[in-house]
Amino acid sequence: MGKGNKGKIDNLGRVVIPKTIREALDIKHNDEISMTVQNGTLIISKGYKACSICNSKEVSTQLGDKLLCETCISEIKSL
Ligand SMILES: [Zn+2]
Repeated sequence: MGKGNKGKIDNLGRVVIPKTIREALDIKHNDEISMTVQNGTLIISKGYKACSICNSKEVSTQLGDKLLCETCISEIKSL
C-alpha cells in the first residue's frame, strides 16, 4: 500500500491522483483506469480489471458488480 495520500472529492465527484502515485503506477494523461470497491475500499487500478476476490488480472467472469477469475470460480465451485 505504501504511503498514505490524502485528497478531497470536488463537487463533481473528482479526485486528483497524486503525482507520486501516478508515477509509481506509470499512469499518464488519458490512460484508462478501472475502479472497484472491495470491502468498503475504493481500488483504482491501471487499465485492467481485477478479480474481486484475489485481485488477479485474469478476470474471466462478471457476477453482479464482482469480477471473478478462473481460479476463484473453481474454488467457489468446490465449496
Ligand atoms: Zn480470483
